[in-house]
Amino acid sequence: MRIPDFEYHAPAHIDECGALLSAFGEDCALLAGGTELLVRMKYRLTRPSHLVAVSRVEGMGEIGYDRDTGLVLGAGVKLSALISSTAIREHYPVISHAATLIAASQIRNMATLGGNICQNTRCFYYNRSAAWGKAVGPCIKRGGTQCHAVRGSSRCFAVYQGDLAPVLIALGARALVIRNGQTSDVPLESLYSGEGRAPFGAGRFVLWKITLPPATHALFAGYRKYRLRDGLDFPIAGVALAVERAGADVTSLRICLTGVWSSPVLVKQTEETAKGKPLSPDLVAELAELAYWSAHPVENVEGTAARRRSMVRLMTREALLGAP
Ligand SMILES: Cc1cc2nc3c(=O)[nH]c(=O)nc-3n(C[C@H](O)[C@H](O)[C@H](O)COP(=O)(O)OP(=O)(O)OC[C@H]3O[C@@H](n4cnc5c(N)ncnc54)[C@H](O)[C@@H]3O)c2cc1C
Repeated sequence: MRIPDFEYHAPAHIDECGALLSAFGEDCALLAGGTELLVRMKYRLTRPSHLVAVSRVEGMGEIGYDRDTGLVLGAGVKLSALISSTAIREHYPVISHAATLIAASQIRNMATLGGNICQNTRCFYYNRSAAWGKAVGPCIKRGGTQCHAVRGSSRCFAVYQGDLAPVLIALGARALVIRNGQTSDVPLESLYSGEGRAPFGAGRFVLWKITLPPATHALFAGYRKYRLRDGLDFPIAGVALAVERAGADVTSLRICLTGVWSSPVLVKQTEETAKGKPLSPDLVAELAELAYWSAHPVENVEGTAARRRSMVRLMTREALLGAP
């Protein structure tokens, strides 16, 4: 399969990058490592005439840690750098750990943080060649009117399967984005629409940087990934959590899921449920139940929906019990 023709742009400044995106509109895509985008172009799932590379944009490769202000990561940082960075391994080892679980080392050497966070949703009925699409008929995400995964539905259920977004959201990450010439600093979870067909909503944006609050000694964070084969597979369910305690009692707790909906899912009411209490077996079971009821997988990636949902409960329990 050949990649369709395109014009290549490599801006050095973030304003120029945003301006190119605005100027070319829907006929343009941002290119980072290309490990997801170029595959979709080969399948003719997207056909932008202009690719705007982010690799040379100022600040995209930044990794900086300050104990008063926290961590700053440029969106162009390679996944392999997330694994090898001393600052990340020391202060947020869960990020390095999650990055090691993504794809294979050749891909991690090309792929970036921003591309991972901004990857498109996936589905058995979408990530297929153009010839396959013609034979079966287009699903909603391919421009049709029917969801093949949930018959009769006019909504797209394609799944978000990124590994890093749930971890960063659990840690309270914020995103610095350029949209229509404006820079804004927003909670990372707000980038996702929750809809499979257009997982980032209608507007185009450049993700420039990710910031995290300073890591404290009271922080424990974990990530569990369920996939059929270790090695290359995407998560068909994943659980990330970050918990802080004063003594034995929980002071803050965030749990975020992946692979079970069209966006990362920040589980509601975890903090209200856990605040001021020790992580007793009863509380852990209650939190695992909250996570279970927040997962809404359908049969559109590997594994059955029921099994993936049960794995969310199991992994939440395991991750919480792993807290020292
Ligand atoms: C065999 C294989 C296995 C994989 N396994 C996993 C896995 O286990 N877990 C996982 O999470 N992913 C997996 N991936 C998906 C993908 O490789 C990674 O998510 C990777 O991190 C994407 O990064 P990239 O830099 O290559 O993105 P690209 O392919 O360059 O871009 C991906 C998308 O993000 C957009 N984008 C890129 N940078 C920005 C930015 N700064 N601002 C806004 N939008 C941007 C692009 O326009 C594009 O739509 C796998 C891919 C393959 C081919």
